[in-house]
Amino acid sequence: MPLRIGAVLLLLITLGLSWVLGGWAGYRQVEQESLEESFRYRQLVANELNRYLPIPELMAEHPLMEQALLNPNDSRVILQANEEMQRMATIVGSSDVYLMDTSGLTIAANNYLQEDSFVGSNYAFRPYFSEAVATGDSVIYFALGLMSGVRGLYFSHPIRSDRGRILGVIAVKVLVHELESQWHRPASLSEAEMVVLDGSGISFLASRPAWLYRDFSGGHQGELPLETRQRYPDRELRPMETERLGLPWGLSETSAKIRIQSPEGDRQDYLAVRTPLPRLDWTLQVMVSTAPVLWSRLGFVVAGLAIYFGVLLAWLYLRERYRREAELALRGEQLERRVAERTRDLEHSNQQLLAEISERERAQSELRETQQELIQAAKLAVLGQMSAGLNHEMNQPLTAIQTYARNSRRFLEKGAMDMVDANLSEIITLCDKMAELTRQFKVFARKSEGPPSVVDLRQSVDAALKIIKAQKNSAGIDIRWNRPEQPVMCHGDLIRIEQVMVNLLANAVQAVEEREAPVITIDVLPVDGHWRCTVRDNGYGLPGNTEQIFEPFFTTKSVKQGLGLGLSISRQIVDALGGTLTGRNRADGPGAEFVLTLQQREATE
Ligand code: ADP
Repeated sequence: MPLRIGAVLLLLITLGLSWVLGGWAGYRQVEQESLEESFRYRQLVANELNRYLPIPELMAEHPLMEQALLNPNDSRVILQANEEMQRMATIVGSSDVYLMDTSGLTIAANNYLQEDSFVGSNYAFRPYFSEAVATGDSVIYFALGLMSGVRGLYFSHPIRSDRGRILGVIAVKVLVHELESQWHRPASLSEAEMVVLDGSGISFLASRPAWLYRDFSGGHQGELPLETRQRYPDRELRPMETERLGLPWGLSETSAKIRIQSPEGDRQDYLAVRTPLPRLDWTLQVMVSTAPVLWSRLGFVVAGLAIYFGVLLAWLYLRERYRREAELALRGEQLERRVAERTRDLEHSNQQLLAEISERERAQSELRETQQELIQAAKLAVLGQMSAGLNHEMNQPLTAIQTYARNSRRFLEKGAMDMVDANLSEIITLCDKMAELTRQFKVFARKSEGPPSVVDLRQSVDAALKIIKAQKNSAGIDIRWNRPEQPVMCHGDLIRIEQVMVNLLANAVQAVEEREAPVITIDVLPVDGHWRCTVRDNGYGLPGNTEQIFEPFFTTKSVKQGLGLGLSISRQIVDALGGTLTGRNRADGPGAEFVLTLQQREATE
């Protein structure tokens, strides 16, 4: 799982980085605090020094000093000098003021009345005396008092004669414990410690009493210089047990991490910042505990962990989101592809359907044409059948006309004009009959081209009957046509309905041929928005399967009598007109009955 390894690695890096950065920030903070404390204390010490520095010089100007030095045996002058120094010490607030001659012998002092008075002591070995004589200028020196053993700052200045010769040195001693006590102020850090080291690295001011008069230099091997030992009489000046732990990353050169083993036995780590103090070769070392660094590190680690987990969660969330989006996009793509495929399939099947439809339409039109041709063929067949009867029908009137014409000629010769006229009338009537007969056949033979319209069913029946009655075999048949008074308007085509009726009637005529009392009945009745036209006969009836008779070329007759197409064509014609044609045997007696229904229509005229 490289992802998990990466996450763990990143966690470790974050922890390490937070730890290092926390340390850096913590040390910087501690160093900053140390520097602030150093600065404050530096100012304090500088103020103190500046306050006392000009005082010995001012005192040296006093004429009494010169007088005392010039007349050391004049007890009156010496007394005056002693009293003056006492006054000065009081005014300045110093612990001691005293006057030394060129040999270093104290000839007057403010404490002249005390038992441990400086008067009579020789301080020629003290640098504040020797340096003042040597340089002829003010000197500041720190040391423990020889008599008192109390820490003091010594300010000295040479006293010169009118001609500039050095006559002696005046010294002012100031106690330093005040400087120490001023370190601890309420606002200062409780964890901050301080030591002031002299040029040899000996601490003479310390925030902790145990750290006083200790060697912080860490470099002195064996004996300390004589001058140093003289400065701190009767003090051991033991080296301080400090361990330098190096310079933390990112800090200035003046800082160092140290571990101090205190005389009480506890060990503590500090960040030590060293700063030189003004005017003197003193060094201020401020030490602040490094404990807050640990807290800073822990704070950074917590913050680092929070950022790490925040980033990790955000990354996981974004990764999941992108994954889902990618999945959705993929699904969308798949869906689109499927839709496109489906559309292609649909288009393909649509095209197939269109092709099938056009094929079907073509087949239907072919069928229609074939039907027309069949109807035509059937009609011609009927014409063929009727040709014998027609022959008879035509011959009869022709013979009659011939007879009438011959008779008319004879009547003309006789001059019997009225008879001629009567014969001519007969001839005309016969001609009309023949013309009507041929007209009917002409109508029957023609094709119907027009679309269906609203027609009177009665007219079609009338026309069909005329054709049927013209046939020889219809003679002697009782054809009962119950013709309605009102027009029978229906959806259809005169010629086509007439063709259907001719077929039905021709079949009926053939069926009743053998009967003794042949009867054919035609009725028209309205039923549920339709006209129902029934053709009944009392013939031999239909064969067993009545639906079979509507199949093309089904016939029970000889070739001369029928082709078996009449009913099949009739049904197709009626279907095309939105009607029905059914046939069955009569329930009320022998014979068949055919029912033709057509939709009722309002008369358009
Ligand atoms: P065709 O008359 O040329 O035989 P059709 O289709 O008109 O052809 O009639 C099919 C068959 O239906 C006839 O052969 C006959 O058997 C039967 N048929 C039709 N009309 C009648 C009827 N009125 N009475 C008895 N049988 C009939």
